[in-house]
Amino acid sequence: MPLSVLLGLALLAAGRPADRPFTELPYTPGLDPSAMDGTVDPCLDFYAYACGGWQRRNPIPPDQPGWSVYGKTATENRQFLWGLLERAAAKPGAERTPEERKVGAYFASCMDQQVVERAGARPLRDDLAAIDRLARTEDLARLLGRLHLSVDAGMLFGFGSEQSFEDSEQVVTWVTAGGLGLPDRDQYLAEGARARALRKAYRAHVARMLRLSGLDAGAAAGGAETVMRLETALARASLTRVEKRDPRNLWHRTPAADLARATPSFRWGDYLEAATAPKAEWLNVSEPAFLAEADRLLGSEPLAAWKVYLRWHLVRSRAPYLSRRFQEASFDFYGRELRGAKEIQPRWKRCVAWVDRDLGEALGRIFAERVFPPAVKADAERMVRLVQAAMRDRIDRLDWMGPETRKAAQAKLAAMRNKIGYPDRWRDYGALEIRNGDFAGNVERSLAFETRRQLGKIGKPVDRGEWGMTPPTVNAYYNASMNDMNFPAGVLLPPLWDPRLDLAPGYGNTGATVGHELVHGFDDEGRRFDARGNLHDWWTEADAAEFEKRARCISDQYAAYPVVDDVKINSKLTLGEDIADLAGLLLAWDAWKAATAGQVLEPRDGLTPEQRFFVGNAQWACANERPEDLRVRALTDPHSPPRWRVNGLMANVPEFASAFACRPGPPMVRDAVCKVW
Ligand SMILES: [Zn+2]
Repeated sequence: MPLSVLLGLALLAAGRPADRPFTELPYTPGLDPSAMDGTVDPCLDFYAYACGGWQRRNPIPPDQPGWSVYGKTATENRQFLWGLLERAAAKPGAERTPEERKVGAYFASCMDQQVVERAGARPLRDDLAAIDRLARTEDLARLLGRLHLSVDAGMLFGFGSEQSFEDSEQVVTWVTAGGLGLPDRDQYLAEGARARALRKAYRAHVARMLRLSGLDAGAAAGGAETVMRLETALARASLTRVEKRDPRNLWHRTPAADLARATPSFRWGDYLEAATAPKAEWLNVSEPAFLAEADRLLGSEPLAAWKVYLRWHLVRSRAPYLSRRFQEASFDFYGRELRGAKEIQPRWKRCVAWVDRDLGEALGRIFAERVFPPAVKADAERMVRLVQAAMRDRIDRLDWMGPETRKAAQAKLAAMRNKIGYPDRWRDYGALEIRNGDFAGNVERSLAFETRRQLGKIGKPVDRGEWGMTPPTVNAYYNASMNDMNFPAGVLLPPLWDPRLDLAPGYGNTGATVGHELVHGFDDEGRRFDARGNLHDWWTEADAAEFEKRARCISDQYAAYPVVDDVKINSKLTLGEDIADLAGLLLAWDAWKAATAGQVLEPRDGLTPEQRFFVGNAQWACANERPEDLRVRALTDPHSPPRWRVNGLMANVPEFASAFACRPGPPMVRDAVCKVW
């Protein structure tokens, strides 16, 4: 036996135990003393004090770009969902609910790697042939309309529906920028050796995928150059992420006739018909300059260039669902090169994630029934009410805001809704056909089902009960057009919200998450929307200037913090999150005080209740990171790195300094604290 095979076997034997489905969610306490590092002075580096033990005990798994409390919790949820899916698949047909049947069949088709392998590149065949058959650039619109049903926004531009910024009761058509295979437009344009090396690796990857799609080596290499040329031009015409933070930059009400005039090379009528999109008198073009450039390229680039561009994006978008050589090629660039992961995720993990994406409310319903009892929901609702009350008091007490703006702020807060755990009405997947043994087809039909669902909303009243995240998701969001906060069950379970413990860590952790989402309604971006979710300026000039001044304090503070190499935080990109972190923690503190008013709180684990509040807060953020992933996130992630989401935050909170008796001064106590809300 060759040595390499022996070594492989030895590694397998000594490696991690094989994954298995969970029958229960594992329990991790909401404040874990062993995750701390007591040798660190909390007044010098609170993040290391609260998370040092966690960081030592939780090396990054080889299949992950980074590792964190949120990431670990999400992975455990997936492993539990895996168990639910296997049981759903094993039930006798008659006992299965329609949801169980559908998610079970989808999952089984995904896990059947042999069938996927045998299919090879066949699932691409028809679409590749359609691309090859294109005879004129004018015909591209019709083909693109059909491909957009089941290919993501990476192909030339994005197309979908969103609420109108002028009248949030209306859902309207949105045409957005897109067309790039790299995560950020700056990656095409940046100077320097690292940026050039990334582009070289990207070009090689595009060539490799074109080769896999059936082109010969010469055509693939030439095709990669073409793709790079087109995408670089599109990147140059795209807004930066910071520019996109101002919603006024994204709203351009455009009559359909004007759009047709501005983009003469593109046949919108054909496109809309093929995409099965309703015709509308006007739509929103989020980035007119981008669309103008796309049209200019359509008019000036030869048809052959567009064929290879479409081919690349088709293969890029479908590769994860094809046979191993496609999956691995895709992982080699997007997972390994770009994010630093060492191995591809095991099949079960990817399959569960795809069920969650494509049938998320069918699967999430089973999840919520198992792990999210009404009592937990009621607790969370109480906490949200206390956080909202804390914001009401805070707006009343604000010393920099005049009466007019204050009244509008209170109206916005009063109108803000919240959604907890899971939807009141579950999404109906009845029209989505899932076939046994046809994984690629199931994915395509699911993506098209979702696109049609989105397009079907155009011109209809808004569904206020709709969720943008599935119940097992370990995350939360605020939606400015809806003016609502959304907390999936997954973010309201241990170790984030732990009913077994005292309230201090839970309010520090999840209470601050609730406060964070609420404050997104009042950050640099959210403050531009009013109580009804319309883009409407409710600020007096003087109050807006006061807000800007306070926000600048935060962006100046975070701009000094390093991310990786010599890259610092792009604090104009992270401003909204940094504002939300700070005010969110202050709200959680007030809410915790209200929730425990009149009670005598005891120390636990050697920590005072106040210290437990802050350690509980910090422990949501414990993480280990790879430099590759940090480099991408420095460009794309609106959140500051975890270390600064804790240390930068605490340095502005006097209650933290007094809880740990920190002396005034850096690093953990700022001489003059920043404070917006
Ligand atoms: Zn946020």
